[in-house]
Amino acid sequence: MERILTKDIGQYEGKEVELKGWVDVRRDHGKLIFIDLRDRTGIAQVVFLPNNKEVKEIAETLRSEWVIRVKGVVGNRPQGMINEKIPSGAHEVAATELEVITQAKTPPFDIQSDGKEIGEDIRMKYRYLDLRRPRMQKNMRMRAKINQYIRDFLSARDFAEIETPYISKSTPEGARDYLVPSRVYEGKFYALPQSPQQYKQLLMVAGIERYFQIVRCFRDEDTRGDRQPEFTQLDIEMSFPTQEEILSLIEDLYVGIMKDLYPEKHITQVPFPRIPYKDAMEKYNSDKPDLRKDKNDPNELAFTFIVDFPAFEWKETEKRWDAVHHPFTKPKVSHVADFNEKFAKSPGDILAEQYDLALNGFEIAGGSIRIHDSELLARVFEVMGNKQEDIQAKFGHMLEAFEYGVPPHGGIASGLDRAVAILQNEPNIREVIAFAKTGDGRDLMMDSPSDVTDEQLKELHIAVVKKQKQG
Ligand code: ASP
Repeated sequence: MERILTKDIGQYEGKEVELKGWVDVRRDHGKLIFIDLRDRTGIAQVVFLPNNKEVKEIAETLRSEWVIRVKGVVGNRPQGMINEKIPSGAHEVAATELEVITQAKTPPFDIQSDGKEIGEDIRMKYRYLDLRRPRMQKNMRMRAKINQYIRDFLSARDFAEIETPYISKSTPEGARDYLVPSRVYEGKFYALPQSPQQYKQLLMVAGIERYFQIVRCFRDEDTRGDRQPEFTQLDIEMSFPTQEEILSLIEDLYVGIMKDLYPEKHITQVPFPRIPYKDAMEKYNSDKPDLRKDKNDPNELAFTFIVDFPAFEWKETEKRWDAVHHPFTKPKVSHVADFNEKFAKSPGDILAEQYDLALNGFEIAGGSIRIHDSELLARVFEVMGNKQEDIQAKFGHMLEAFEYGVPPHGGIASGLDRAVAILQNEPNIREVIAFAKTGDGRDLMMDSPSDVTDEQLKELHIAVVKKQKQG
């Protein structure tokens, strides 16, 4: 007999079915025992009747979270016992057979509550149990639906999903890189990409024209608020785009996600307002203003594009001009001579073809039109304080690629962890990441970071120098 799912029992009235899953709860009523059996689709009530003594005796031993197989006949629940809240609520299964597949220890915390009352460390240590709670199940499944929506939406618009390397090279996105030592090339290192920025631009040189990827990015930053060492972006790049095409693409995508997956939510304003950076700073003192009309409404979504960012900002600590977004972003200049003139006059006044998308006061996407003129790109690296030989070593491949027929291009990347957290009304991104790290970057379930053997270090040509203990 084939297993059926709890949500479907209503289709089998009067028939014998087989269910497999976890014991959610057991209720003992003396003559009768009820259990809620849980599977990925929800729960179904199973009743053990006194006439089947052998099966009822096993049922008496059942505990929460045991994994079982039950056979039984589907019947209507008595009037007054119907549970309107669950799809299987009008029916129950009268057990004829029961097998305990695996037993379970008592979980270290309640997995039926929403879990917010439980210390996060213990939730993280037993994440596989924490994920069983209905709220987390919903978060994971809604996230999967959003991913699927994105894939369908972009594929229908002729975007190709292309994977780019994780074992890569240092990228200039402004954060510290995670390094991966090379065993074969002594003393050399790969870096985990802070984003696929250069690869996606090179895919434009390669003639792909429309690329996307749901991709992990890695940034070794000190813990600042709600961040993770690795996070997921929807990364997009297009050839021959106007800025407006990119903005409306991402706007249509988010409006579509809302309509399809979050019909209970409403968007404050469509088309999303496009506010120049300068105006946003003057009016809201923020480049990600929260434009909700009613901040107590969990179903209000206020999207807004911030456009016309300045291209450069002064870094006082390093005494140099740095790109506000990244060095590949196109300043609003017509050519190198024009750039030089404007930069000599007032670097801080040069605007960029750069934009962000804010949602309810959080930045959920950012991107730009790129510089495709290799001379201008080299000049931008230079004004940011790179020496000629560094430019060649770090970005020579980009400059060279741009000499082989580069199309004008631009793109955007959207931080999915944050977007999903807002949509799911979750206070932090850890609630929508299956195996999140703690705020201080540890994986308490796997116990990572952890020691490795001397043998492993030796192979990697690495010696660990421990800090002298004080005193
Ligand atoms: N790579 C950029 C980022 O991660 C996004 C972009 O410019 O497309 O912020």
